Amino acid sequence: MSEAVRESVLEVNLSNLAHNFNYLKSKVKNGIKMLCVVKANSYGSDAIAIAKKLHDLGADYLAVAYAPEGKLLRENGITLPILVLHPQPVNFDLVIDFNLEPSLYSSRVLQEFIRVATKRQKTNYPVHIKFNSGLNRIGFWEQDVDHIAEKLAASKAVHVVSILSHLAASEDHNEREFTLRQIDSFTISANQLIQKLGYQPILHQSNTSGILNYPEAHFDMVRTGIGLYGYGNEARYDKDLKPIASLKSVISQLHKLEPGESVGYNRAFKAKDYMTSATIPLGHADGINRIYGKGRGFVYIHGEKAPIIGNVCMDMIMVDVTHIDCQEGDEVVVFDEHTSASKLAEHAGTISYELITAISPRVKRVVIS
Ligand SMILES: *Cc1c(COP(=O)(O)O)cnc(C)c1O
Repeated sequence: MSEAVRESVLEVNLSNLAHNFNYLKSKVKNGIKMLCVVKANSYGSDAIAIAKKLHDLGADYLAVAYAPEGKLLRENGITLPILVLHPQPVNFDLVIDFNLEPSLYSSRVLQEFIRVATKRQKTNYPVHIKFNSGLNRIGFWEQDVDHIAEKLAASKAVHVVSILSHLAASEDHNEREFTLRQIDSFTISANQLIQKLGYQPILHQSNTSGILNYPEAHFDMVRTGIGLYGYGNEARYDKDLKPIASLKSVISQLHKLEPGESVGYNRAFKAKDYMTSATIPLGHADGINRIYGKGRGFVYIHGEKAPIIGNVCMDMIMVDVTHIDCQEGDEVVVFDEHTSASKLAEHAGTISYELITAISPRVKRVVIS
């Protein structure tokens, strides 16, 4: 049970995480490994609490985007293998210091990592080779296989633990043909590299929507991020998942307004009638972007919808509570298990990923187990 809310908090529910992990695991065949993506503070929640719970749940791997995110996990006692999806060469010593495993995605990055690992007298240091199969973001191309194999063969410093690629549109059913071509491209690149290596690394290509929509892309391991946090990128999957994070706050003050009075900066809202506004201690510095202002965003008070009026301030929003029976100090819900962040995000023309990862460190995290 959560306690009464008296300030802005992000509640992080670990039993919902367990539910989502087990649901996603049930979608892949036995023996396929689960890599859990905990980048960006576990999608804006609490990376340390989440990583510990994922360890207990039986996750095989964790992934972060950048090396300092992995360092934080190590410093807090996380011992699972940690893949760094997009490491920068400036951090390669840090990668090795904290026993992190880099994804190597270009010739420049591969050669530099081999140089640093050699300098540090490493042998068989675990690395991951990333192919671009159509996202055109990071990764080697199919025709790079010979070059990669040569560089690897010339050094004992590193050992390829896995070969990976990333899907561009696994949530988009109109792009099915493109996605199937990505899966083919990855299969070809990976098999060619395996032949040259003479050993069999783990293959992985699927993110959450890949897990749900493309069993043919599960390979040996799947990488799930958004699904763990309770969003499935589609209504039919959302109903089986439970959002782990609830953003709650309180009413700081109520204001009675007369027709013609304005609310907030630049007088962006003007009352047409007698009305009541409530001021809430959450603003764009907390991650409620200005895009949610002027009626595009809303909160819930006693289960009723209260639209944000006027501009979002740095530290506050004001909402229309004219038709809601409420008092100063009452609880406010921005999103939770029932009033989903993906609906709110959609309303403002963005996606759940952006809304949840934006919740800033100023908002207190409360872990519920
Ligand atoms: C962020 C990320 C994921 C997780 O994607 P979800 O859609 O959140 O499941 C997987 N793989 C890579 C390479 C990523 O960058």
